[in-house]
Amino acid sequence: MQILKGTPVSPGIVIGEAFVLDIEEYRMPRRAVPPEQIEEEVSRFEAAAAKVGSDLQADIAHIQAFLPDENLADIFAGHLSIMKDLAPQIVHSVREYRFTPEHAVSKKVRMIVKQLTSREDPTGFTTRLVADFTDVEKRLLRTLFGQRGAAPSGANLKSVIFARDLTPSQTIRLDRSKVLGFVTELGGRTSHTAILARAQGIPAVVGIANVTRDLSGGDTVIVDGSKGLVIVEPDEETLKKYRAIERNFISFEKRTADEMRSQPSETRDGIAVALLANIEMPEEAAHAREYGAGGIGLFRTEFLMFDPRNPAGEKEHFDAYRKVITAMEGRPITLRALDIGADKMVDDSAQQEKNPFLGCRGIRYLLERMDLFRTQLRAVLRASAFGKLRLMFPMVSTLDEIKQARAIIQDVRDELDREGSAYDAELPVGIMIEVPSAAIAADLLCAEADFLSIGTNDLVQYVMAVDRMNEKISALYQPANPAVLRLLRQVLEAGQRAERPVSMCGEMSGDPLFTALLLGLGLRSFSTVPSAIPEVKKVLRSVTISEARQMAQEALAFPDAHQVVEYLTERTKRIIPELF
Ligand code: PEP
Ligand code: MG
Repeated sequence: MQILKGTPVSPGIVIGEAFVLDIEEYRMPRRAVPPEQIEEEVSRFEAAAAKVGSDLQADIAHIQAFLPDENLADIFAGHLSIMKDLAPQIVHSVREYRFTPEHAVSKKVRMIVKQLTSREDPTGFTTRLVADFTDVEKRLLRTLFGQRGAAPSGANLKSVIFARDLTPSQTIRLDRSKVLGFVTELGGRTSHTAILARAQGIPAVVGIANVTRDLSGGDTVIVDGSKGLVIVEPDEETLKKYRAIERNFISFEKRTADEMRSQPSETRDGIAVALLANIEMPEEAAHAREYGAGGIGLFRTEFLMFDPRNPAGEKEHFDAYRKVITAMEGRPITLRALDIGADKMVDDSAQQEKNPFLGCRGIRYLLERMDLFRTQLRAVLRASAFGKLRLMFPMVSTLDEIKQARAIIQDVRDELDREGSAYDAELPVGIMIEVPSAAIAADLLCAEADFLSIGTNDLVQYVMAVDRMNEKISALYQPANPAVLRLLRQVLEAGQRAERPVSMCGEMSGDPLFTALLLGLGLRSFSTVPSAIPEVKKVLRSVTISEARQMAQEALAFPDAHQVVEYLTERTKRIIPELF
């Protein structure tokens, strides 16, 4: 049994088999081979080993012929000898432990790599050796998977996904109905994996260094998404304990959701507060309804750019928007224009930016890619004829960007008029407040924005100068930092003065720890992952506005984030003790 500690990003407990999605997206199938198939599996491995052996011989011959002066052939000769050493050990594992060859290869190489990397490596020799073993492992796995065809065994099981990081395009390709939990090496609370996991109510832990290196597919794991623990190959006693916790957790979540669904979304003194959902795919609208969302506060549309070289056309955009409009039955929907760039759906050229998070992303990208922008605007405007839509732009940092975007909207409207296509002429056009310049000058931007939506995920990263994906400095990613809280207050006040509705759609708005504080600062519209709605509602129904104001005032008096969190924890505990 091994206990690994990471950052808890989506609560809950799951027990299942590991499914390792490594950098090249190989999936390690689960391990048990039925006794009568063992010899068949051994032959399959031997055939794969023979193929890898002959490929390596061919590589050596090629290098000797074309690059005779380099010592490259030695590297491949080394790989050949690694493979010859490994082969009998793999065959032994298949026969003795009934492992699939894929699992046996992965398990053996992971074990060797782990031993090697535990040593000091002043000369870099070990690092090179690790690379050699990993290379042989990949060749073997590639060949083994090639024999099986596209669908590796085990893909039909519900599993816990282990990955170095999950990019949006990888997550979209996953069959989410088969995902029990997520564990990644990179990322923090606002990484895409974390948001996705919370949106789906799937337990997740991020920031466990080397976990995909040390773990093999098929290992039994417990993921404790509340404490940030991953227990590999647990003993019987631990399994029993966690099965009981798992049952309790599910019943607490379900109880809260059932209890809150039909309750009005208002404070104890009867002030109405909008509780909306963030979704990333049209299908999630149904999920939002189940949790009692009053509408969609953030519809991320990047899934339409799943393949950046082959983006969705106007019809796909339009159909997706119509689907959400239908599912939400007249409730308001705030749709965000494509937020491409940085960590989201980048194509090869964007990846070459030196500082992608400070690069061509969000509205900057859209203003460069007029083809994509106009396609989306046409679909949004046409869909607006069928429901209560609002449109907002991500990553706005200047007034001029909103003016330019509005001019393009006008142009598209004129085009639709000429065609005789219907649209909502009053479609509200707003902006995300997620860049410090937009937050500081929110009052000025209100001149061109019909509404504001605070994106704390990015705002915190830019205010604190902390990459939201970098687990090394995640302690500095502080939504409760006084600088962030002051800025939030300033944005809310600017919105109020300019009579522009202000919503919050960053992860902070779904954390019950901050609910009363945000209410006290003046927030009246929260948009969050659907599964967080019941808890947020529970907190807001327990406080009055004047209590919340008092809390906000006291929280703002602390000089650092830790004290703010301590204070809010203590106060929230009194309101909803089951959360702690
Ligand atoms: C945000 O930055 O807070 C936000 C909601 O946008 P995203 O997480 O998609 O960047
Ligand atoms: Mg953002």
